[in-house]
Amino acid sequence: MKRIVLATRNEAKSAELQRMLADLPLEVRTLRDYPQVPPLPEEGESYEANARSKALAVARWLNEVALADDSGLEVDYLEGQPGARSARFLGNDATDEDRNREILRRLQGVPPENRTARYRAVVAVAFPDGRVYTFDGTCEGAIALEPRGTGGFGYDPIFYLPELDRTVAELSPQEKDLISHRGQAVRKAREFLLTRLRERRDP
Ligand code: IMP
Repeated sequence: MKRIVLATRNEAKSAELQRMLADLPLEVRTLRDYPQVPPLPEEGESYEANARSKALAVARWLNEVALADDSGLEVDYLEGQPGARSARFLGNDATDEDRNREILRRLQGVPPENRTARYRAVVAVAFPDGRVYTFDGTCEGAIALEPRGTGGFGYDPIFYLPELDRTVAELSPQEKDLISHRGQAVRKAREFLLTRLRERRDP
C-alpha cells in the first residue's frame, strides 16, 4: 500500500480529509487526479451504506485503496432530518445558505433546549478485492438561532457548540478536526491504516 485515493468530489470535505491524513506514510490522492472516475453512487439511506459504496466503487475502478466519508446533520426537532440526505436536502440546485436558512425557518420559535442536533460521519476504507472497513464519529451540538462564522462548510455556521459558545464555522480548522465527527472517524481509520502499514500487511 503506497497511496490512498479520497473518494469524494466535495472539495471542502476533501480538504479536511487531506489535512488529517497528511502525516501518514502514504501518498494521498483525490478524484481530481482521476477525472475518468464516473459519478459516485449515493442512493443509500444510511451513512454506512453510502460510505461503503463510494469507497468500493473507487477502489474497484482504480485498483487502489480508497477512503470515502459519508456524513450529515441530524436535527432532533426535525426527527433526524436531513440525515444521510444532508447534501441533497432541498435538491441539487440549493446552496449551503439556502439549506441553512430553511433549517432555521423550520426551527423558528423553537427554544434552545429543543434545538439539539448532531453531526455524524462514517469513513469507509475499501480495497480493490472488495474488503471494506468502516469507522464512525459523532459530534453533539445544537442549531444556532442565527448563522455565525465563516470557517468550515455546509451547516457549520448554524451548528452551535454550547460548551464553546461558538458555531463550528467560528473554529479554526485544527479546532474543528479535534472535535468533529469526521475528525473522530478519520482518527480511527488512521489507526487502522497505520497498524496495517506497520505490520507490512498489504491490507
Ligand atoms: P455527503 O457525505 O457527501 O452525502 O455530504 C454530507 C453533507 O452533510 C455535506 O454536504 C454537508 O451538507 C453536511 N455535512 C457533513 N459534514 C459536515 C461538516 O463537517 N460541516 C458542515 N456540514 C457537513
